[in-house]
Amino acid sequence: MERFDTMLEAAEFATTLCKNWKFAISDDGYDVKDLLVLAETSDSENPIDEDNFYVVSPSGAIGLCEDGEDIDWLILSAAMPNENLPLTYQAVTRMKFCPKCGSPVVPSARFCSKCRNGLR
Ligand SMILES: [Zn+2]
Repeated sequence: MERFDTMLEAAEFATTLCKNWKFAISDDGYDVKDLLVLAETSDSENPIDEDNFYVVSPSGAIGLCEDGEDIDWLILSAAMPNENLPLTYQAVTRMKFCPKCGSPVVPSARFCSKCRNGLR
């Protein structure tokens, strides 16, 4: 899965995968326009920390990953509400290790989160 720094980037990617979503903890439905408005509002009112990021599942579900571990799936694809969504980011991606300090880093990371060593 790709990672996104803002919900809007994640939402824009999700719109290439499906066209209807539902909120994970209620039955509120979203179409493309609703989703992008929601994402913009979320980014401006509730921006995430730099260690956190959003992910998008193959069906277009949007999750928030905090501290590189558990993913909270916030918005599900209405087409596949029962999709088997991964609970951790590491489980679905091959880990790399920082060549300087040996800490695990996600494959798309540009810097080691521990020692800030550049990885590209
Ligand atoms: Zn490092």
